[in-house]
Amino acid sequence: MINVSKQMDELLNTASEKGKTLLLHSCCAPCSSYVLTYICSTYRVTVLYFNPNITEAAEYEKRAAEEKRFIDEINAKGIPAFPIRYLDGRYDSKEFLDAVKGYESCPERGERCAICFRLRLSESARVAAEGKYDYFATTLTLSPLKDAALLNRIGEEEGIRFGVKYLPSDFKKKGGYLKSIELSKEYGLYRQDFCGCVFSRAERERLKAGQRSNTE
Ligand code: SF4
Repeated sequence: MINVSKQMDELLNTASEKGKTLLLHSCCAPCSSYVLTYICSTYRVTVLYFNPNITEAAEYEKRAAEEKRFIDEINAKGIPAFPIRYLDGRYDSKEFLDAVKGYESCPERGERCAICFRLRLSESARVAAEGKYDYFATTLTLSPLKDAALLNRIGEEEGIRFGVKYLPSDFKKKGGYLKSIELSKEYGLYRQDFCGCVFSRAERERLKAGQRSNTE
């Protein structure tokens, strides 16, 4: 089996990779925090914030604002080798709700999530191809709740469809997830306790209510 984490380490240390352009789809500032600090010495990164799965507009705006603030702060500190750019994706939660129609009651990690991954990776591939980026990638593989192998398979497929290279990842490896928690604390980033859609929020609330009733 291919070790994508090792493969990425090798790429990041390859001199000819330096300065290549990468469109990084980001789900939120906390997940991007580790990913950006990990790759920004090598790649010229543009962050694409395309997340119509965040069904509540206020939540969407809050997460997008945190993403921009984090990028501004690390750019101001001179952490990336090349200043990181931010690109707003279109936002219409109906796009997500239409795509997952019939799959609303699937649990997190089920079929609804696979559709959601494809929606976001497909648009990322389209934008990356249009902008003639060398690669596109996603921060989604940082989460222990997300299937990196599935994300990488979808990323590869969408990359082929649009004619742009997908950079496979498993950012949670090598303590990546824990580092993102530390960075979130350091930068005071808002860390939501649900994935993004109304269905994941309801699932989290049911879980919390269950935990409360177990302790009563
Ligand atoms: S739980 Fe997360 S990944 Fe799954 S459909 Fe909802 S927003 Fe998308």
